Amino acid sequence: MAFENDTELKELIRKSALLNAVSHDGKAQAGAMVGKILGERQDLRTKAKELSSIINTIVNEVNSLSIAEQKAIVEKNWPETQKKEKAEEKRLPPLPNADKYAQIVTRFSPNPDCVLHLGSARAIILSYEYARMYNGKFILRFEDTDPKVKRPSLIFYDSIRQDLKWLGCKVDEEYIQSDRLPIYYDYTERLIRDGNAYVCECPTEEFRRKIIVKEPCPCRSQSASESLEHWNLMLGGGYAEGQAVVRVKTDLENPNPAVRDWPALRLINTKKYPHPRVGSKYIVWPLYNLAAGLDDHLMGMTHIIRGKEHYTNMVRQKYMYEHLGWKYPEAIHYGRLKITGTFLSKSKIIQGVKEGIYTGFDDPRLGTFAALRKRGITAEAIKKMIIDVGTKSNDVTLSWENLYSYNRKILDATSNRYFFVPEPVELKVLQVPKTFQAKLALHPENPERGFRENTVTPKDADKEVNFWVSIKDAEAMEPEQIVRLMELFNIKIENKKNSSMTATFTSESYEDVRKIKVQLIQWIPKGEEFPCQVVMPDASVAEGFAESACKKLKPDAIIQFERFGFTRINEVNQKLIAYYAHK
Ligand SMILES: [Zn+2]
Repeated sequence: MAFENDTELKELIRKSALLNAVSHDGKAQAGAMVGKILGERQDLRTKAKELSSIINTIVNEVNSLSIAEQKAIVEKNWPETQKKEKAEEKRLPPLPNADKYAQIVTRFSPNPDCVLHLGSARAIILSYEYARMYNGKFILRFEDTDPKVKRPSLIFYDSIRQDLKWLGCKVDEEYIQSDRLPIYYDYTERLIRDGNAYVCECPTEEFRRKIIVKEPCPCRSQSASESLEHWNLMLGGGYAEGQAVVRVKTDLENPNPAVRDWPALRLINTKKYPHPRVGSKYIVWPLYNLAAGLDDHLMGMTHIIRGKEHYTNMVRQKYMYEHLGWKYPEAIHYGRLKITGTFLSKSKIIQGVKEGIYTGFDDPRLGTFAALRKRGITAEAIKKMIIDVGTKSNDVTLSWENLYSYNRKILDATSNRYFFVPEPVELKVLQVPKTFQAKLALHPENPERGFRENTVTPKDADKEVNFWVSIKDAEAMEPEQIVRLMELFNIKIENKKNSSMTATFTSESYEDVRKIKVQLIQWIPKGEEFPCQVVMPDASVAEGFAESACKKLKPDAIIQFERFGFTRINEVNQKLIAYYAHK
């Protein structure tokens, strides 16, 4: 038999058979191994028949051992392979007091004043995952009650819904706060009537001077009916913007002055600043703590999972809950999650898009979900990373490389391989003895996915074949050097000029050059090239040629350009346009 003496191959098969056996109750499956071996020994592609016979022999030997014997051999020789299988997927810690509630209810509550970015990932994924973990309910609530400063925009309601869908976070109920103003008015009236809130007409500075020394402003001592009168005056347009606010009473002794008698509703001139959904219909608008605080109770929230910067808001809202005789939901405040080098400020994103600095909200330089999606960063990778970070209250800083490594693990198994030659230069190979048919697996470990085929036919007396290779590879080559064109044949560099190189064929088998560790480079036969642009994370563009099999790719496919990186296909027309994910 052809490789009777190939001890290295036999060892490889034996290892593969033993690993396969221990994960299949002691019985290795020969069929599953052929592809795996071919993935590691691409030189055996044409000898699959002989290979499967030698695999059968070794599998029979391995299967005759007991599973205990197999495990002992594996543990002794390849302990690293076993740890990996034992590593369990990380799960979130249980929610506090989950058993006290008939159904767990969580929410994600964005202001639709911008697209979502990585900075929101933690709030979304933790809230959603907990709802799912307890078979509960996940609510999306648009907090769009600031038509003046943090002005919502209609396009963002939809982009947020799309982002959640992409993240796989299915929304069970959706609310929009600008639809709920009459509800907020009702509860405000109740708070005022019960003497727990009042209309304050003091200029902000004057109020602040008093409250900082724990002194009430004169409006606080008004009777409930006086305050109600002023409240109705607010609703009826009797005050101009800035002339009155509703304040919720708190303990004036609260150590944090920012908590004392916090503002709950204010006036906005919606003739001048119309709301994108309800126009100028309302002039009294709730501030964050009133609207969010009421809604959390009214929507049956059991657990609020949010950043620790919201801790003071909880302190404020608890006064209102007490006034209304409600119980505050369980609250989990996690630390800040920073991604180094990411630009996450909403206002800078919006400004940059408006000024044309960015091509759009999906510009590859941005950390928006739209940009990540465009580059082929998967929702699954983001989810895994967030779950691994968990709900810790300390700040966590991650790098892009952290996210890439989660993504790489997912894409490595799923992405098909192709050749891309950036900045192509010509390579002329002489003395090619015959026609070669290169059969390149779309995925080395899964030959069942198929192949791309390239036929290379020598022409003329010199038996010449012309290729494109990348300038970077060309620059690294020296005359006399042996190089292997990946999965094709080996060549020797003869001479090198600026934009072209000449080489001669030396041999076909990888075995001939494996020992001397030659460089394997990707190539494209001249005439088979497909123009390709890869948009990089810094928005620069890598120009080059992709192999012709790429013409069949569909937009949204995520592939790996060998020795270049993972990319997501954006467009397949006269040329291929792809976005770069990472190495
Ligand atoms: Zn006042």
